[in-house]
Amino acid sequence: MSDPAVPRPPKKIHGARLPHLLRVRSDRIPMNGGTAKAAMTFRAGAPVVVSEPGLLIGADVGGTGIKAVLADPDGTVHARIARPTAAEGSPYATLVHVLDTLAGEALDAGQPLSGIGAAVPGIVDRHTGTVVRATNLDWHELELTHRLRHRYAVPVTVDHDARAAADAEWAARAAVGEQVEDAAFVPIGTGIAAALRIGGRTVTGARCAAGEFGHVVVVAGGEPCTCGGHGCLEAYASASAIGRRYERAGGRRLPDAAVVAQSISSDPVAARVWVEAVDALARGLVGLIALSDPELVVIGGGLSSAGAVLLNPLRSRVAAQLPWRRPPRIEQSLTGPEAGQLGALLLAGARRTPEPVVRSLRV
Ligand SMILES: [Zn+2]
Repeated sequence: MSDPAVPRPPKKIHGARLPHLLRVRSDRIPMNGGTAKAAMTFRAGAPVVVSEPGLLIGADVGGTGIKAVLADPDGTVHARIARPTAAEGSPYATLVHVLDTLAGEALDAGQPLSGIGAAVPGIVDRHTGTVVRATNLDWHELELTHRLRHRYAVPVTVDHDARAAADAEWAARAAVGEQVEDAAFVPIGTGIAAALRIGGRTVTGARCAAGEFGHVVVVAGGEPCTCGGHGCLEAYASASAIGRRYERAGGRRLPDAAVVAQSISSDPVAARVWVEAVDALARGLVGLIALSDPELVVIGGGLSSAGAVLLNPLRSRVAAQLPWRRPPRIEQSLTGPEAGQLGALLLAGARRTPEPVVRSLRV
């Protein structure tokens, strides 16, 4: 366990109040109200006394940033916050800072906190809430559910970020009438993962480690990867790998891999790095498609914002490598970079009422 830091008490709220993440119905936001406030106390390190109904927090814990949302069970958003993962000195300290902030928002709104969901990359034991291994966070055997339950005294659910984000994506599609039974959700950001849905059920694997798609080898003896292996998909096609490979190939340092995508028509280095990334991604997807036969592959995460620049060549390369069958649809995600937060919110509400959260998704 690498993150024992206990953050300082929460500051007065500083995040933007109310947001555009979901459809906001301001007439339904109870402020300063009612008996719920009397039933609640909150201070750092002390329990929040829960009464029903209350507010939920969904936190998307990423290798680069932590984003979280405070909402009521029908999905009406009260507050959101985003912090660089290292902002408070360690990922755990930043997560607690984010949660303290939103718990403070709940206090201001006169409502108790009634659940927390956290979406975490790496290998996450969803049954115990232990983060077995999250390389990008340097977390090993971190009993995250236990810690957060102790600190906030509310139900806490922790799961793999790609699976949580995928649940939000399928919920968003269901909200517009598309029922997805067999599909893959592939978020591409700091890393690459895949959440497989087969026969309407999410695949978790024997040790909750299914979906580490980024570590499928696509180039034998290729580039070193953070996992210790070589030639992994993630070492070629993640947003961070694209930026790193572009810079190493002679390009300038860029703030975002999306800039590489925007430069491919005028910058031959960007074009080459981009083509190599798309080729690697296509090779990985061909294996995934051959094994699981999805009807739909959804590309999510930050890199999906590249849109057609990514999807068009990806579709043609995947089709070219599957001459023996019709390829599945490959589409950009509906939930975009908010999928992780929404999925975490679904986790937070899973014990009670997931459907109203679904209804409030902006699609
Ligand atoms: Zn790897």
